[in-house]
Amino acid sequence: MSQYDFDLFVIGAGSAGVRAARMAAGQGKKVAVAENLYLGGTCVNVGCVPKKLFVYASEYPHIAKEAKGYGLDFSLNAFDWPTLRDNKTAEIERLNKIYQSLLDNSGAKTIWGKGKVTGAHTVAVGEDEYSAEKILLATGGWPIIPDIPGKEYFITTNEVFYLDTFPKEVLVVGSGYIAVEFAGIFNGLGAKTTIASRSGKLLRGFDEDTRVFAEQEILKKGPKLVPEQPKSIEQLSNGRLRVSFEQHDSLEVDTVLCATGRKPNVENLGLEQNGIELTQNGTVKVDKYYATSAPSIFAMGDLIDGPQLTPVALAEAMAFLRQQYGNSKAPLNYDNIPTAVFSQPNLATVGLSEEAAIKKGHDIVIFQSDFKAMKHTLTDSQERTFMKLVVDKNSDQVLGAHMVGDHAGEMMQGIAVALKAGATKANFDETIGIHPTSAEEFVTMRSPVKK
Ligand code: NDP
Repeated sequence: MSQYDFDLFVIGAGSAGVRAARMAAGQGKKVAVAENLYLGGTCVNVGCVPKKLFVYASEYPHIAKEAKGYGLDFSLNAFDWPTLRDNKTAEIERLNKIYQSLLDNSGAKTIWGKGKVTGAHTVAVGEDEYSAEKILLATGGWPIIPDIPGKEYFITTNEVFYLDTFPKEVLVVGSGYIAVEFAGIFNGLGAKTTIASRSGKLLRGFDEDTRVFAEQEILKKGPKLVPEQPKSIEQLSNGRLRVSFEQHDSLEVDTVLCATGRKPNVENLGLEQNGIELTQNGTVKVDKYYATSAPSIFAMGDLIDGPQLTPVALAEAMAFLRQQYGNSKAPLNYDNIPTAVFSQPNLATVGLSEEAAIKKGHDIVIFQSDFKAMKHTLTDSQERTFMKLVVDKNSDQVLGAHMVGDHAGEMMQGIAVALKAGATKANFDETIGIHPTSAEEFVTMRSPVKK
């Protein structure tokens, strides 16, 4: 008999927590998972899933408009926000139930309430205390709100999925994934949309040519860019919001969405009291086995430094299970993680940017293509597609692939397999294209644009 109530106690039932809990329980471990908000975490409830549903919704008006060039008239009569919002909520509730049954069927015990570490092997949830051989912290992240006068008028992704009314005019503050994805959603669904970006550059950090191309395409679709962050927000007597800037004229909008990054949920987790150290950026410090500075306590997902992406959190949970309960101590390989921004058009990428490859000392050659997708030859859309390969000159290995265009996210998954397998440019060249597609351009870029 174990001296503990549980083999594994997980705090936080998001992507990492649920995966670790149910897989460990499935292996016969005695597992509990504490959650105080919702099952499935940010991704299922206020992130990837509802966002993607909104992205789909916001694409239909463009499709209806473009169909005219093909002789089809889908006149757009109305957009009913409550229908979209409530259908989305019903889908999220369905997923919440699936998460609950996954946990129940695996044998993991769900404990509702906020978990707090009280010792190397103990966790409190409300009045109750439980002991466990290992504790896993997977409490995820939370939106950061800039400290400006009127910050209480910001909404974040915690609220945007549940608005009472759909705004006619909206300001999105930020320049990253969430800002551009929501700018596309609002713009596509008919709101007059402005993005306030303090750097004036959307999607900074991605491959620079790709980022610049994406920014041009995103702005072509309608959103305006203010290259400045708001100074203050005040509410007017008609309920609208006036957003003031240092340099730019003030804006009057119905909604201000704050998308200026997310911070790890470390408050009231009992970290400091139990010797669990944080890194300089406030994430929980872990080794390559996700062990914190308290050896029986582990952390992963958005709580630790690294890409804040659901599939990464899931992979960390699986690596943790292998390391702790399986037969492989091998750390997770974080190279070549593909990612997509569901902006309109999509940006997707895997591997190194041109800048990162140069910084790592690679001698590189760049293949690049920029074209009008066949679909748009009969529409009045001015949208263009962009593809880029970063290749090591000496080994011929493809170090990075980048794309802006329709279905870039769908396409990049397959390219990621190739990069993971160490594909060379010669392998890309030998691959027969699928015609006529945009994707075939990835295997037909013959002449380098930079070498
Ligand atoms: P990001 O880290 O992507 O971007 C935050 C942006 O906010 C930065 O571009 C930065 O712009 C800007 N910023 C930071 N501080 C301020 C400030 N005080 N005032 C004004 N602007 C500021 O964060 P998001 O919130 O967009 O998303 C969080 C994370 O969630 C992402 O990093 C991503 O990992 C994940 N995510 C993934 C998605 C996907 O896979 N499709 C979708 C959504 C989120 P700059 O520094 O250029 O000025």
